[in-house]
Amino acid sequence: MSDLSFDGKVAIVTGAGAGLGRAYAHLLASRGAKVVVNDLGGGRHGDGSSAKAADTVVEEIKANGGTAVADYNSVVDGDKIVQTALDNFGRIDILINNAGILRDKSFARISDQDWDLVHAVHLKGSFKTTQAAFPVMKKQGFGRIIMTASNSGLYGNFGQANYSAAKMGLIGLAKTVAIEGFKNNVFCNIIVPTAASRLTEDILPPDIFEALKPEYIAPVVAYLCHDLCNENGSIIEAAAGWAGKCTIFRANGSLLRSSATDNVTVEKVHENWLKITDLTSSSSLGSIQEATGALIQSLENLGNTQ
Ligand code: NAD
Repeated sequence: MSDLSFDGKVAIVTGAGAGLGRAYAHLLASRGAKVVVNDLGGGRHGDGSSAKAADTVVEEIKANGGTAVADYNSVVDGDKIVQTALDNFGRIDILINNAGILRDKSFARISDQDWDLVHAVHLKGSFKTTQAAFPVMKKQGFGRIIMTASNSGLYGNFGQANYSAAKMGLIGLAKTVAIEGFKNNVFCNIIVPTAASRLTEDILPPDIFEALKPEYIAPVVAYLCHDLCNENGSIIEAAAGWAGKCTIFRANGSLLRSSATDNVTVEKVHENWLKITDLTSSSSLGSIQEATGALIQSLENLGNTQ
């Protein structure tokens, strides 16, 4: 198979001065994309700023023969990042919302600032940058957007309530952007990475840390951004040279009343709890219409379609 090219494409990668974002920027540039390397260059907890992180990656890309410009804005000012792409390259085809910080605390100790900063960078930053790029992509009839979630959002993680909530929020955001962009060939997917970076250096055990190169995840993200990829609204987990799709399953559940005039009681919920929570016969629903359709089916089973 011939190499998949990104010639002629313009990509923004946020938080591309380090870690995963740096790997995405390098791979896309090496395949012909013109890349906006965005990075605020601050600390791991959202403090400070510096041009060095973005500048270094731009220099590396240029030294390898690629095309890139640096952008130092915070993703909270995502419209400015999109403007950098338009001013330098005249279009924007790919947006990888990747910038991130951590302010880990056990739930009881999370301050308003810990909550707000994490939500500002992850959730509002992705909203602002995507909202600025979206109309440009729709007008072009092409766009590929990535949101970055986390297993911490999907499953929860001790000490990361603020981060988990923001990461799960990004899944809802991505799924709706995917629906609204679809008819204009603007697709939005979610990556759930696990990689060695400064965000995980004190979380992952040292031997595992070595095996989790961001370069193992970058091709998965790049493929999701390619013209050939028709995936939309999906959660793709990737780590250590493995990738797989994640979805939400719903149990077939249990009817809690036997006729249209019957009531639901706490006792009936108690009696049926095993059936309500039994996932041995469950299904993965692809849309809100499928979810609602299943409810209407339940009503029909009661002989009541009102
Ligand atoms: P990293 O710290 O190496 O890189 C994140 C980059 O984002 C940094 O260079 C930082 O300067 C930049 N950044 C932070 N705030 C910014 C802002 N407001 N505006 C612009 N840039 C900003 O971390 P990483 O591990 O490469 O993480 C990348 C993304 O992947 C994050 O969203 C993170 O939450 C997510 N993630 C990572 C892992 C993992 O295992 N590394 C797991 C799940 C999710």
